[in-house]
Amino acid sequence: MNQRKNIIHQIKRTVLIVEDEFINREILASYLEENYDVLKANNGLEALHLIHESLIPISLILLDINMPIMNGFAFLQEIKKEEKYKKIPVIVLTGEKDSELESLNLGAVDFISKPYNMKEIILARVRRSIELSEDRMIIQAAERDERTGVYNSHIFAEYVNKMDRYNIDGKTDMMVIQIEKMHLFSELHGHERGYDALYLFAKVLKDMALKCDGIVGNYKSEYFMMYLNRQKDYKKFFREVEERFDLEMQGLTFKFKMGVYHVEDKIEPVESRIRRAKLVCDEIINSNKDKVIIYDNERQKNALFRQQLVSDLKQAISEHQFEVYYQPKMNIQGDTPVLSSAEALIRWNHPELGFISPGVFIPLFEENGDIRLLDRVVWQEAARQIRRWKDIYHRTIPVSVNVSRVDLFDPNIAKTFKEIVDEAEISPHDMYLEITESAYGNETDQIEEIVSKLRKEGFKIEVDDFGSGYSSLNAITSLTFDVLKLDMQFVKTLLTNEKTYNMVKIVAEIAKFLNVMLVAEGVETKEQLDILKKLGYQVIQGYYFSKPVRAVDFEKFIKKEDKTC
Ligand code: C2E
Ligand code: CA
Ligand code: CA
Repeated sequence: MNQRKNIIHQIKRTVLIVEDEFINREILASYLEENYDVLKANNGLEALHLIHESLIPISLILLDINMPIMNGFAFLQEIKKEEKYKKIPVIVLTGEKDSELESLNLGAVDFISKPYNMKEIILARVRRSIELSEDRMIIQAAERDERTGVYNSHIFAEYVNKMDRYNIDGKTDMMVIQIEKMHLFSELHGHERGYDALYLFAKVLKDMALKCDGIVGNYKSEYFMMYLNRQKDYKKFFREVEERFDLEMQGLTFKFKMGVYHVEDKIEPVESRIRRAKLVCDEIINSNKDKVIIYDNERQKNALFRQQLVSDLKQAISEHQFEVYYQPKMNIQGDTPVLSSAEALIRWNHPELGFISPGVFIPLFEENGDIRLLDRVVWQEAARQIRRWKDIYHRTIPVSVNVSRVDLFDPNIAKTFKEIVDEAEISPHDMYLEITESAYGNETDQIEEIVSKLRKEGFKIEVDDFGSGYSSLNAITSLTFDVLKLDMQFVKTLLTNEKTYNMVKIVAEIAKFLNVMLVAEGVETKEQLDILKKLGYQVIQGYYFSKPVRAVDFEKFIKKEDKTC
């Protein structure tokens, strides 16, 4: 900052003298002209014109009060109305004590009394006023985030401490607010429009903060922080921000979410309060309902647990903490069920947290995209297992692997699968790819293309969880595939709900019509199995036969058939 100051001091400033008496004006000008560029005006109105027309910023105004046409007070009132000029420091030239108070109220920074016979004092006052105002501007610029105009993190924290000092007993909250999918918006509409949106959002938050004696800071791009007096109803607060922002954005709707932390102890460092509010804000994933979460200990535990999983992933992969389990899929068409294939299901043996089921960690990695890393590990291991069983038992046990929606957006996925089967020296026919029905979502064109490429390579495609999504019929009409797997929920109520029974029957007819293999999973009882068999289901997976087990334990199913042969 010092260096910047030095450069600033070398530039000649412009001073405007507004004084109707010719002699006085010229005396002042003669004092100043050595160090400053001087502009002169006869009265307030002329001065206003000069300011508007001047291309060079004016650093200081010396203003007489008693002038014809527009006097000093009227002039002061005018310039304080304009954002661009209200920060120019004004020194009032006066002979009367009375006008000092009024001038101060109108924003003057200093006084010089007439007659002007003390050149050095006048010069010193002019210099000091300019310096003070420029320092203030530099500080203000550095305190604020350039794009959003709110405090940067460091200054925000200082102001929080200041607020606490004046409000030791008052109840306050820390809030972290995030605009969702900001990066997508910027990619679609350009970064400039992204910055505009951030600026407008900041403006709305500043207005809200003003209403509840709060302050706003920018944490990083799309994250904002607000420190404020405790509000009764944060849902209402949220709706108000939403309405104001919608109004500002005129047609472009943005989603955002809010984490609130009730500050219990003002000794707690500001960073820690922000971290907690952000923690719960980040907890809101894909939710359309709960856009505001208030921090509590239970949430903290959950959030920290999830955060730990996310940050442990890479190490866990390298330390082989993941293990692939296999669940048999039995062909029930004949008199006795025979082993048809297996589904590979991942398990995490975490060294501190113990055994973690995929229902817990898969959604997290689907959300942040890391599922791509993990799925490759599973696919590779499954392929190697197929090879091992081929070598030991001289027969092929095809294995189905799960493929996430995120995987399907990787343009190289077909190549990846090909490399995996080549490396394990197995055929693509030995691997089934289970793609959950909801993966087909909106971008069906792209997914269709990838799926048909994989099929051409020889991989079998299995539509998983069929009937669970909104677009089941859509998915099966637009895609080519080999196996239809009924969603587990239908099996659960198959015996108790007639509607379910009818649906399960219809799905069987669809599969027959499409000439694809039909699988049901989640089968736990003999009764369920019998009905499904009667309806034409060919392959059954479920606890009735076995839970997913380790590869070594799975081998008993292969050996059993070896013996019967
Ligand atoms: P999914 O693909 O629908 O897998 C079937 C789930 O049902 C498995 O749960 C399995 O253990 C369970 N299951 C099997 N038979 C029965 C039964 O008779 N009764 C009941 N109640 N459940 C049964 P799991 O292993 O906990 O996996 C949950 C989900 O996590 C899977 O659902 C799949 O969507 C995902 N997942 C598992 N492994 C992977 C993986 O390697 N990659 C990806 N992307 N997702 C995976
Ligand atoms: Ca599956
Ligand atoms: Ca399934």
